[in-house]
Amino acid sequence: MVVLKFGGSSVSSPENILKVLDIVRSHASIKQLAVVVSAFGGLTDHLLHTSRLAERGDDSFKQELIKIEDRHLAAIKDLIHAKRQSSIVANVKFILNELEDIMQGVFLVKELSQKTLDFILSFGERLSSYIIAEAFKENGLPAAAVDYRNFIITDNNFGNARVNFELTNQNIQNYFAGNENLLVIPGFVGTTKHGATTTLGRGGSDYTAAIIAAAIEASGLEIWTDVSGMMTADPRRVKNAIPIEEMSYEEALELSYFGAKIIYPPTIQPALSRRIPIRLKNTFAPEAFGTLITHSPRPSEAPVKGISSIEQISLLTISGSGMVGASGIAMRFFGALGRKGVNVILITQASSEHSISVGINQKDATRAQQTVEEEFRLEMQAGIVDKVQIENNLAIVALVGSNMRNTPGIAGKLFSALGRNGINISAIAQGTSELNISCVIQKKDEEKALNTLHESFFLSETKTLHLFVVGTGTVGATLMDQISGQAANLYKGHNIALKLIGLSNSKTAIFNEAGIPLDSCKEALGNSTQPSTIDTFVDKILELNLPNAIFVDCTASAEVASVYNTLLDKSISVVTPNKIAASGNYHTYKELKTLAAKRGVKFLFETNVGAGLPIISTLNDLIRSGDTVLKIEGIFSGTMNYLFNTVSADKKLSTVVQEAMDLGYAEPDPRIDLSGKDVARKILILARETGENLELEDVAIKPFLPANCLQDGPMDEFWQNLRDYENTFEAQRAELENQGKGYRLIAAWEEGKARVELREIEKGHPFYSVSGSDNIILFTTERYKVQPLIVKGSGAGAEVTAAGVFADIIRIAN
Ligand code: ADP
Ligand code: ASP
Ligand code: MG
Repeated sequence: MVVLKFGGSSVSSPENILKVLDIVRSHASIKQLAVVVSAFGGLTDHLLHTSRLAERGDDSFKQELIKIEDRHLAAIKDLIHAKRQSSIVANVKFILNELEDIMQGVFLVKELSQKTLDFILSFGERLSSYIIAEAFKENGLPAAAVDYRNFIITDNNFGNARVNFELTNQNIQNYFAGNENLLVIPGFVGTTKHGATTTLGRGGSDYTAAIIAAAIEASGLEIWTDVSGMMTADPRRVKNAIPIEEMSYEEALELSYFGAKIIYPPTIQPALSRRIPIRLKNTFAPEAFGTLITHSPRPSEAPVKGISSIEQISLLTISGSGMVGASGIAMRFFGALGRKGVNVILITQASSEHSISVGINQKDATRAQQTVEEEFRLEMQAGIVDKVQIENNLAIVALVGSNMRNTPGIAGKLFSALGRNGINISAIAQGTSELNISCVIQKKDEEKALNTLHESFFLSETKTLHLFVVGTGTVGATLMDQISGQAANLYKGHNIALKLIGLSNSKTAIFNEAGIPLDSCKEALGNSTQPSTIDTFVDKILELNLPNAIFVDCTASAEVASVYNTLLDKSISVVTPNKIAASGNYHTYKELKTLAAKRGVKFLFETNVGAGLPIISTLNDLIRSGDTVLKIEGIFSGTMNYLFNTVSADKKLSTVVQEAMDLGYAEPDPRIDLSGKDVARKILILARETGENLELEDVAIKPFLPANCLQDGPMDEFWQNLRDYENTFEAQRAELENQGKGYRLIAAWEEGKARVELREIEKGHPFYSVSGSDNIILFTTERYKVQPLIVKGSGAGAEVTAAGVFADIIRIAN
């Protein structure tokens, strides 16, 4: 004997009911089959909604009733041959008339008791079981529908009735003894001894099936639904959840209790008591193995089996000095909650006994607070117990697995994974059996926490980074191309999954939580008409609240740089070639670095100095390894180098500046390069990285162009002034060349002082031979005193800058 249960989604349409039929048929060799069905998918909610309309006196409930009627009649038309339809339609209409009468009653008296509601909700399963039994018969299966009355007997706790197993088991056994047919049974509903209709709680059809299986000592219970078994997490919220092949009853109970909706928690007990194996199967993929729940599942290595969560939680805390060492407080506290029927989901007590906190359903919060306050009124007046506190809008996330018992460090891993992603834990509890660890967090962080924990406990091999990129100029666009070309390799070879979630330029933005296709992201952004500002972009990032989020600023904008602290504060890493933040005032720079460290995220700007060259990272490595930096000196401006290397009698300064701009070597405003300011920023950043508290004004700059070429003002004036000066410059340069020398713009930091100056460099000097847009940086340190450590290579251009940004992103993954 086997019991099969088909949930709402499995019977949500005639097409799906035919799938159910195939599955039942594939069990034909089993002698006796019981098929428990839910209401058509979504119908219980629809009935509930319709009842609430009627209760409010809203006569649109009638339209809803018509929809309900149409849905059932349409199913009959699709599933039953015309010849047999009329009698079945008549029966269904008879049932629906009863439903209409009772709804009309609710509408007239504007009152809906839990008892009436149970009666109304029972129609879903009553109708579906009847129609499905007829559809089975239509297809040659010897089905009989079971009348819900006098079958499952319960108390009169409407909405969540408790089963009287003595009477129920007797009823079921009698029924099955006299019936060899394939029985189709409505799930979810029961009756009291006095014949009132009750329900077993939302999702209760699973429970009906388990009660029957236990009563007839079935050899198996199969629960058919719309997913391929119990997954490592709710697949609707964690996209890369995977099915769990085997688990124990205790693990299944724990996961379902903590929110895994695939199985209604009370279902486990009857099956466990008779050791009936439960199989969770997918109606839409019957070939998938699903999940097998037994007493002794195949042992697994992983400490954690699954992760689940419950939303709409409140934390109720009672605290006070008088509680320490006082006996009986906890008993009275829980007694008061119990008397009001408040279900306590989680308990934590600080070891000082100064407070007790319980996690409860938010809908019970006010009632719970009142009853506890009443209980402790005298103690509160005497100041022994403080006010009873309620914190709303929370969620519980639970890790479940029997192997956690033998594995140290699980709680530590949980804390650090959540902490790194800025998720604050309000309370934590571990069951004494160590079968679960659960923690209370903010509701808004629930999905992020699930994904974070899922990644650390199941996919620790793979790390998914969620990127939000601002700026699609040369660097941004090149970065997108590079990531697009490399993403597959990173995933395969390094287990890093890069997902572009948001992309914006100064006017518009696009978002896709599943990931924006990289190869067409620029076109997609181009086609977007969604207006966006940096503030709306940031709001959206915070709203999405994704784990391992990285903000990549590929602009040169001060406005964009001004949002870094908001992001870092929310545990979002920042990667940028934009120098404004790191070279702005020292206070801001320091604040951002400190914030990143405090939140355990990264603020990386390697490309601020020398584009793709590892300059900042080399400097940091030297310092971290205990070396002392004595002097930093070098050519930091690929742009300026390009200028000095390219200017000639035929190619004057203004032409070369324009060329450098066209090649993406120069800052958008070339005066920043020409004035030496860009180089000053770089040496400033390096000095700061050594620990120096320095401002940009402290860097001594000797400009090489006349002031009128460097002052702020319209660009055409700048070009004109540059052209006026370029012949003078060319004359000096040619003279120098004759002497076997060349100009180089050198920046240096030594003994707390930084400077930028144009120097005449002789042929043969290492600075002379730096070609094209290359950079060269010499670190003189205690360890590299005689022979400085040299970093040399291409230091400007979109390709190398984007590559440097990309490297910073990968650094975060590692
Ligand atoms: P049915 O209508 O068949 O009773 P339910 O909607 O009650 O189905 O339960 C199946 C749903 O449970 C899945 O679609 C899934 O979204 C949800 N679910 C939540 N947690 C899990 C989990 N850990 N594994 C599988 N499904 C889960
Ligand atoms: N139809 C009921 C509900 O939606 C019972 C069930 O589907 O298990 O809650
Ligand atoms: Mg269900």
